[in-house]
Parts: sequence; C-alpha cells; structure tokens
Amino acid sequence: MINNGLPVLPDPIKGVFFDMDGVLYDSMGAHADAWNLAFHFFGFDFSPEMVYRNEGRTAQSTINLVFQQEKNRDATEQEIEQIYFKKTEIIADFPDAVAFDGALALMKELSEKSVSIWVVTGSSQDKFLNALLEDFSGYVDKSRIINGQDVQHGKPHPEPYLMALKRSGLASHEVVVIENAPLGIQSAKGAGIFTIAVNTGILDDQVLWDSGADRVYKNMLELTF
Ligand code: CA
Repeated sequence: MINNGLPVLPDPIKGVFFDMDGVLYDSMGAHADAWNLAFHFFGFDFSPEMVYRNEGRTAQSTINLVFQQEKNRDATEQEIEQIYFKKTEIIADFPDAVAFDGALALMKELSEKSVSIWVVTGSSQDKFLNALLEDFSGYVDKSRIINGQDVQHGKPHPEPYLMALKRSGLASHEVVVIENAPLGIQSAKGAGIFTIAVNTGILDDQVLWDSGADRVYKNMLELTF
C-alpha cells in the first residue's frame, strides 16, 4: 500500500470504535432538519451546514452555541429543555434512520478477525440506541456502547474516546476510530487514536482533513481492513 506520507494504520488492529450518526446510520440529514426546524420554532437560525459543522456536540452544547451567537449568553435549563424537547418531537415523526450500506458487512468482517467493536456516540436517546442493538445484533453489545450520558464532556473533548479505551482495555495505538464529523475527529485525535473519516455529509473533505483525519473516504463501502 502506498502511504503518500500519511500515517500508517495500526497493525494489528485490535479494536474499531464506530461513531453512530453519519457513520453507521444515514441519519444526519434528519438531525440537521430537526435542529433547523426546532430552532426556527423558537425564532433562531441554525443552518444545516452549522448542524454538520457542530455535529457531535451534546444537545446542551448545541443549544448554548446558538444562544451565545444570538444572545451572548448560555441558554437556561428551561430553554435547553424546551428546544431539545421540540427537536426530539420533530425527529420522532421522521422515518427511522437506515443503516449505511457496508456498515453491517464491515462489522462482520471485523468480527471474523476478532476485532473488538465499540460504538462511541453523543446520542443518549433510547430509541436510537435500541435500534443500534437490533440492527447490528451479534456485533454491537450494550456493554460496548459509550453514549452521551456516560461522559461529562462530549465531543470534541477526548473523554468519550478515552472512556472507550479505558473500558476496552485497549491502547490507543491498537485502535481505529471511524468518524464523519469534524468535532468527532478532534475528539478521537485528542485521545491519540488513528482516525478514519467517512464524508457522508455536506462538508468539503478538506474540513475533515483539517480536523485531523488520518484518512478520508466517501462511504463505508470503501472501507476494508
Ligand atoms: Ca457522527
């Protein structure tokens, strides 16, 4: 394999940490629309582009970001609750997110090679976590999911990926992260992990390279280990 000066993949790879939205599921369009509509309902502007750029933040952090931009202050707990409730309500009416082509096959391949499979997501909604367990049954286990409620600091902080390292007992040089979002890539790189980006959204590849991605691919179908 020609590396073109790019960092070399860990060898052997003992674990793969998957992000969920935008990596395993074609769900970011729905999240972008739901955030956009929820903020619009309360008189704020938050474009889909901004959703993609800030993907991976907790709901609280996302709402505070908009309040800081438009009101120069954080949102109150009540405001956060109201807007998040609205967003949850809107997305509940959307069709269920579909897993990306290639995601299940990749997990099967990894599983056959005895590679440990983890999911590290900022999401903490039961609806999505239960779907994950069902859709990737046999490969994803509840004990190997780090969700938004497991951490104090969401992405871009390295805590989610550091926690996955700690719980898996794997070292950063034995693991690969698959992410789609700038803040997720920053989080993974902050934890010292080789990070593959799949650019399934609307951002330029360069945004993902600039965030520190070690590889950038178009989709899960291009990935093999
Ligand atoms: Ca994501």
